[in-house]
Amino acid sequence: MKRRQFIRNAALTGAGLAIGKTLTGCADTPSEEKKEATMKTKTQNTPIAICTWGFANANAKAGEELSKGVKALDAAISGVEVEEENLKNTTVGKGGAPDREGNVTLDACVMDSNGDCGSVLCVENITNVAELAKRVMTETPHVILASKGAEEFAYRQGFEKDQLLTDASKKAWEKWLESPEYKPLINIENHDTIGMLCMDKDGDIAGACTTSGLSYKMKGRVGDSPIIGSGLFIDNEIGGAVATGMGEEVLKTVGSFLIVELMRNGMSPQDACVEAVNRITSKNDRYKDFQIAYIAINKAGETGSYCIHKGFTYMKYQDGKNENVHSDYFDKA
Ligand code: ASP
Repeated sequence: MKRRQFIRNAALTGAGLAIGKTLTGCADTPSEEKKEATMKTKTQNTPIAICTWGFANANAKAGEELSKGVKALDAAISGVEVEEENLKNTTVGKGGAPDREGNVTLDACVMDSNGDCGSVLCVENITNVAELAKRVMTETPHVILASKGAEEFAYRQGFEKDQLLTDASKKAWEKWLESPEYKPLINIENHDTIGMLCMDKDGDIAGACTTSGLSYKMKGRVGDSPIIGSGLFIDNEIGGAVATGMGEEVLKTVGSFLIVELMRNGMSPQDACVEAVNRITSKNDRYKDFQIAYIAINKAGETGSYCIHKGFTYMKYQDGKNENVHSDYFDKA
């Protein structure tokens, strides 16, 4: 086992045990029944792709790749690239909204079914940052590269320098500067971080998450999306989860890791997403002002989603069908 993989495994095992203790009140491993259920589902191999929001083209792309036999991580990356390259999407990739000083800075991470992962933070001038995160995973001894270091690494890997600030994003930013108030909107219809989870024909699960972050954020701000465990987490024996919404709140509860650990302890993807949202709303009176949404998949191919406020939808591709699903939500008042 490579040294960095060993270190990562050790850290995750430690964190997993700690959370298992909190959840169950004792340090017991999951019951024999639960273990058996997990084992039974290991042969499941229906290709499935799910992604945050209504990114139909991106999800269809990933689903089609999976149907051709492409592995989960590569399918997820080719799916999210559709949005990274979509100039009309103002919260992902090229065309993304800038920070308050006019710099478009992108964040992304990927996690593979063998537990390996890569991440890039605050990267300028590179469009396909999910692929760049994969290169950090496969071509460096590290997990995270940030800012200029990530950008220089991208050029060494053959990525081209791109102009990420489009005329439309620049105009919107200039308008915002007229009365600058930092107030992220609760739901920006179908235009937000894309987080994608794929299960391939071998039943292996992997995921990718990519974003330009919250519009008009402070220079240097990084949210949950590129942080393994917060924006995305995969454990191929159990399942995976991704987040979208107010990154600061996801970071405080390590939401995606929490969901996978809840599933490890026997919860369905749906119940695990509900519990992860409850962890936030129960401690934070300000939840009325922000949106958080999670989607999750388990090894049996069951999926789930939950969010704070009405309006979040996600895409689900299975058996050649690509559907937009309305998520249940917490704030019914
Ligand atoms: N989670 C992202 C961030 O905080 C933004 C989003 O999903 O809308 O950067």
